[in-house]
Amino acid sequence: MSKPREELNPFEIAKRQIDRVGRRLKLDPGLIELFKTPKRELTVNFPVRMDDGNLKVFTGYRVQYNDALGPFKGGIRYHWNVSLDEVRALACWMTWKCAVMGLPFGGAKGGVICNPKEMSRGELERMTRRYASEISVIIGPEKDIPAPDVYTDAQTMAWIMDTISMSVGYAVPEVVTGKPVGIGGSLGREEATSRGLMYATREAAKRTKMNLKGASVGVQGFGNVGYNYARLMHDEIGAKIVAVSDSRGGIYNPDGLDPMKVLAFKEKTGSVQGFPGSKKVTNEELLELDVDVLAPCALENVITSENAARIKAKIVAEGANGPTTPEADDIMYERGLVVLPDILANGGGVTVSYFEWVQNMQEFFWTKREVDEKLEGQMVRSFESVWNMAQKEKVDLRMAAYMVAINRVAEAYRLRGIYP
Ligand code: GLU
Repeated sequence: MSKPREELNPFEIAKRQIDRVGRRLKLDPGLIELFKTPKRELTVNFPVRMDDGNLKVFTGYRVQYNDALGPFKGGIRYHWNVSLDEVRALACWMTWKCAVMGLPFGGAKGGVICNPKEMSRGELERMTRRYASEISVIIGPEKDIPAPDVYTDAQTMAWIMDTISMSVGYAVPEVVTGKPVGIGGSLGREEATSRGLMYATREAAKRTKMNLKGASVGVQGFGNVGYNYARLMHDEIGAKIVAVSDSRGGIYNPDGLDPMKVLAFKEKTGSVQGFPGSKKVTNEELLELDVDVLAPCALENVITSENAARIKAKIVAEGANGPTTPEADDIMYERGLVVLPDILANGGGVTVSYFEWVQNMQEFFWTKREVDEKLEGQMVRSFESVWNMAQKEKVDLRMAAYMVAINRVAEAYRLRGIYP
């Protein structure tokens, strides 16, 4: 595969996106500069006792990007490719995601450079607790509320919640979202990102007159977001999941795959590859399959200037954060593809995180049905405002989503004023 021509540093991409939108909205250049700058960044280096008795030093980050609209909010990622610039970009995108979803939160993100696949449960717990303790100086229920992201889950959140609670001497469930239901998590949070992505796909299909029943769907990534999206599209919409993949590679079956069976196979063998009746495809090939809907649900920069012209899907639903570069956006827009931008398409996760936080603050819990209904309402409303903006301004949906989001944050600055 030839290399894409463009810049792939995610924070440079995030800043380019802001420049584009800022110019279009004719924003004060000072405000554009502010929106391209994280408010607060914390780097922590800390030791963890590994199972073999040795000490290992880990590096983690928490970037608090912007809190004009409310407390900082955003996940924590464990990955070997975590870098300060990646966390900055993800924190920046959280700011616009919360704004476009209409949530009273700002944007933040955390990350630890590690390989969770090679760590034992005990090592992961000790690393998580120490990282939580290191960032405890800036997080809190009214300040900054972490949640799961790539390779972190409800268990990770339980350890963070317990660590913070131990240090203050009472239970603080509202310091994180995406917790297990047994300690104050919300029903429906686990699948919320995928459920929201399904609603966004449905809204886009309605407007482009695509019948989703029997439509073919390719999903890159088989973690929490990719798996649940495949399952919900299969079970609730009746779509045909023809391809899925994980970090090792993908599988393809034009007659359709049963996501639950694929998950059972992956849990047994460690990968989706080798699933009976399927043909092997690479992660790159999966993106270019002849499908109706393509959902990149893994990592950044998978659709670039190099492959954008070969994407055949009519709808691209971004379950991942930052899967598409600006150059690829332009190519796909010219070709008439509908790209559902990450800050809108995967906003269902943080929306139910908001519901979880509200339930924790009120100490009053909702049924799964209430959560799903409220999520659907929030997704449909946000989708509508973005779609209408795109029609009115004759721009792609990413530009439209940013216009809606940045207008809301800019308005917060107008109302609050600049201190002092
Ligand atoms: N990590 C998720 C995201 O990127 C969820 C963040 C949250 O719930 O705070 O949107």
